[in-house]
Amino acid sequence: MHELSIAISIVDTVLKQAEAASAGPVSEVNLDIGVFSGIEFESLKFSLDVATKGSILEKTVFNIHRVEAVAECPTCHHLYTPERVFSHCPECSQPGIRLIRGTELQIKSLLVEQNE
Ligand SMILES: [Zn+2]
Repeated sequence: MHELSIAISIVDTVLKQAEAASAGPVSEVNLDIGVFSGIEFESLKFSLDVATKGSILEKTVFNIHRVEAVAECPTCHHLYTPERVFSHCPECSQPGIRLIRGTELQIKSLLVEQNE
């Protein structure tokens, strides 16, 4: 499953970052996932549960923020919300699209507890 390997790499990154910052337990992880990232949200949630089981992130809350797509027309530079990855500009009807947002898959922030 595609989402499971993504979940594992997210968990891996979070663990490394927490370790590098000599942080305490990670209570929250905020993820930005674009609507055109090709990731199933429900499937990713489930995979994160599987990937964190038995690890120190088992109790961590993963907040998945859905990032809506923003596209720019390469011809007239009009900004719009595309319904598909390939579309025509609603302003000048030229084919072609440059996605500015909507394909991201990133760890936006971690909330860690302070080590006493
Ligand atoms: Zn245009």
